[in-house]
Amino acid sequence: MSLPPLVEPAAELTVDEIRRYSRHLIIPDVGVEGQKRLKNARVLCVGAGGLGSPALMYLAAAGVGTLGIIDFDTVDESNLQRQIIHGVSDVGRSKAESAAASIREINPLVNVEIHNTALDRENVREIFSGYDLIVDGTDNFATRYMVNDAAVLLGKPYVWGSIYRFDGQASVFWAEHGPCYRCLYPEPPPPGMVPSCAEGGVLGVLCASIGSIQVNEAIKLLTGIGEPLVGRLMVYDALEMSYRKIKVRKDPDCALCGENPTVTDLLEDYEDFCGAVSEEAQEAVVDSTITALELKEWQDAGKDIFLVDVREPAEYEIVRIPGSTLIPKGEILSGEALAKLPQDKQIVLHCKSGVRSAEALAALKAAGFSDAVHLQGGVLSWVKQIDPSLPAY
Ligand SMILES: [Zn+2]
Repeated sequence: MSLPPLVEPAAELTVDEIRRYSRHLIIPDVGVEGQKRLKNARVLCVGAGGLGSPALMYLAAAGVGTLGIIDFDTVDESNLQRQIIHGVSDVGRSKAESAAASIREINPLVNVEIHNTALDRENVREIFSGYDLIVDGTDNFATRYMVNDAAVLLGKPYVWGSIYRFDGQASVFWAEHGPCYRCLYPEPPPPGMVPSCAEGGVLGVLCASIGSIQVNEAIKLLTGIGEPLVGRLMVYDALEMSYRKIKVRKDPDCALCGENPTVTDLLEDYEDFCGAVSEEAQEAVVDSTITALELKEWQDAGKDIFLVDVREPAEYEIVRIPGSTLIPKGEILSGEALAKLPQDKQIVLHCKSGVRSAEALAALKAAGFSDAVHLQGGVLSWVKQIDPSLPAY
């Protein structure tokens, strides 16, 4: 299915632009008219992280006239392995500002609009309204569903991508011409089932593989060339080096874009919809949560504690809290590790940020370890409050 171009052409290209974009201009399918459409285009990139980095750089180099960047985060050293729009001197700087500076260096002809804020239900419509196309580079389900819902409600197309370890996916969601994200994934995964890249890792170069597919699709949509990835899901496996395309149909029962929609406005709370932790875990942590300072006091006082690290072995290799024993969460949830736990000691669970340990705590309490507690904020809070010389990852 080919679609008409999203954007009308700009009146003209300057001599500078003709020189700069000559390798586009001599491709018959793009030509001067296609380049003029790119010049007139307004594209918003949600997130200047793993996917946003290559996407913004190539969109800028391609001559997209106006690029919006929305990101509230700051550059961290652990971002540099894949977020190539940022450099060493940007650590600590706003990602949106840092990305804008790189774009100006790549192509000063691009007009950059910085939204140094978190996307939320109050601002998403207004921000999206100002753009022809959205490139979604978010890394969490709450924002992903909000981007989808806002795009469908506003009638905007968007290019979606996701990455995890060696696997990537991409598609174009445009409810007027095909399915939306909810047609493909009607429900968010159960809390704790799908680890984030921060928990599970991501091969840095995978960002370029998927980010470049997103830019490719953006250019096709803006200029009206080729077959856009509407109604098809691209699935990439970097280890197999395989690309598969899966047909995705519009779901007539989709809660958002189906025949009888039940979602007719943005949700009140997307975090709640996606459930940061399960209800069992939320209940388990009440009165059973300690801080890093309390844990340190217990250790210093010689309290008889059994500290359990429920992360994965690779994470344990990177950084560990002194005195901890590694028992991955899966072994606790399956029950196989319960026999390893002492009955006569104070059990303290921890993970990286406190989500997995909350889930493990719920399982322990259900198994009768009623005094067990978990560490709020996990290793990250230990590093921050007790020992900043350890690496936060
Ligand atoms: Zn839908």
